[in-house]
Amino acid sequence: MAGRKTAKTGNQGQKILKSDAEWRKQLSPSQFRVLREKGTELPFSGQYDSHFGQGVYSCAACGNPLFSSEAKYDSHCGWPAFWAALDEKKVELHEDKSLGMARTEVVCAKCGGHLGHVFGDGPKPTGKRFCINSESLKFTRKRA
Ligand SMILES: [Zn+2]
Repeated sequence: MAGRKTAKTGNQGQKILKSDAEWRKQLSPSQFRVLREKGTELPFSGQYDSHFGQGVYSCAACGNPLFSSEAKYDSHCGWPAFWAALDEKKVELHEDKSLGMARTEVVCAKCGGHLGHVFGDGPKPTGKRFCINSESLKFTRKRA
């Protein structure tokens, strides 16, 4: 089927495989552009850039819990930034040499959706900066 990607089989449990047409039905055009076409939202435009509630940020496409507000920090880069994923099995890291740069792409381990990139200039304790598009995330507030 056109547009369908083959997922690697790993120990991540059940992968979600959908065609572009199926994703298009489920996602907004801007979410589709980021998650399925590896787009990047404009800096300082995303709803979660300067959002600091207590809770969990999940994948906007499949609901996989990805990042905790406890690891979110203000990187001033214009996108939501986290120094760690909720669990390193929740995300996959891929080498990305597009745009003439060597970067590390971060994708959702469950649906393969593009989330953003990870850089090595983050704060302690990990020194990592997961620079993630708001369009890829859905925030759920922690119940008190
Ligand atoms: Zn996902």
